[in-house]
Amino acid sequence: MNAAVPKPNLLDLDLQGCQALVTGMGGKGFHGRSLFKWIHKHGVVDCEAMTDLSQALRRRLGAETRICLPRLVETQPAADGTRKWVLELADGQRVETVLIPEGRRTTVCVSSQVGCALACSFCATARQGFNRNLTAGEIVGQVWHATRALGRAPTNVVLMGMGEPLANFEAVVTAVDILRDDLAYMLSKYRVTLSTAGVVPNIYRLREVSDVSLAVSLHAADNALRDRLVPINRKYPLETLLPACKAFVAGDRRRRITWEYVMLDGVNDQILHAKRLIRLLEGVPSKLNLIPFNPFPGSDFRTSPEERVEAFRRRVLGSGIVATTRKTRGGEIAAACGQLVGRVRDRSRRAARGQAAIGVVVP
Ligand code: SAH
Repeated sequence: MNAAVPKPNLLDLDLQGCQALVTGMGGKGFHGRSLFKWIHKHGVVDCEAMTDLSQALRRRLGAETRICLPRLVETQPAADGTRKWVLELADGQRVETVLIPEGRRTTVCVSSQVGCALACSFCATARQGFNRNLTAGEIVGQVWHATRALGRAPTNVVLMGMGEPLANFEAVVTAVDILRDDLAYMLSKYRVTLSTAGVVPNIYRLREVSDVSLAVSLHAADNALRDRLVPINRKYPLETLLPACKAFVAGDRRRRITWEYVMLDGVNDQILHAKRLIRLLEGVPSKLNLIPFNPFPGSDFRTSPEERVEAFRRRVLGSGIVATTRKTRGGEIAAACGQLVGRVRDRSRRAARGQAAIGVVVP
């Protein structure tokens, strides 16, 4: 094998990928299933220990492939039970993962990119710039670690950490397939949620290839304000976003879009904004999740007062849309929404390329 070409990382492969690899090595499809199960269900990352595979197959897997996990370099526990992990990737980049226990459920919030190119004006990750996409293995690796730490698979996974999942389409779709697989983490389509700032063409693509729940970072119900808060809106404004979201949930009466709406003091938190939002969401099966703004050093916004968040929530609820306020978790360890920063070596050329790739114009 050419030394310059890295060996395939088995963590990047979904079930079909494992089966194809193993049959290519002279094994049978069910050996591929077994390999996949060893890695994800049993957490075994040494092929020698996969005792139901033949000696010959184990030897070839050991020689021609690798199982490369992100390295857990730091864990920060918060008083409310939330844990933030810093994970180091093979090239020294760092991303963050958050574990959020809540009664019988444990949600793992995973990153999909090193940094982010979307430049949302109220987000700490955006300040870090963009370095690169994560591989499927680097995304799933976060859940692999969480599963080992918890002693069982998490009940929910949200792609709401660093990065824009729909700007890293292939790797994210493969990772979701692995999370959903019964031989791996067994998560139902209602328990894996992908959050996007609104990469509209990829919402349509996602609907074709993946069963996952969709959350959309709305934050404003008119284009002028959304252009300022979520710059990708200049490329894909609300009149393109809403039909894509409607199409995503069409045909399944249990499905809804979860709209995320960060409450920014004096910016988007008045009753007139709530009314606009109600009008915008008319006819779209929706759930609204209000997120109190989590401040970070150097941020230009303030958190809306609690009474205003509640008044906004009640107004929306009154229109028949389920509306909840997200509890801020892990605030003191900067693990709350929009506070994840990792260690991103942003090279502006790369950041520019990331933005160009999704067509965002950031002034
Ligand atoms: N890029 C994806 C995934 C990030 S999810 C997306 O935009 O949806 C993280 C959620 O937290 C998004 O809704 C994001 O807009 C929101 N967020 C970002 N910064 C925040 C902050 N400082 N306080 C509260 N929420 C924030």
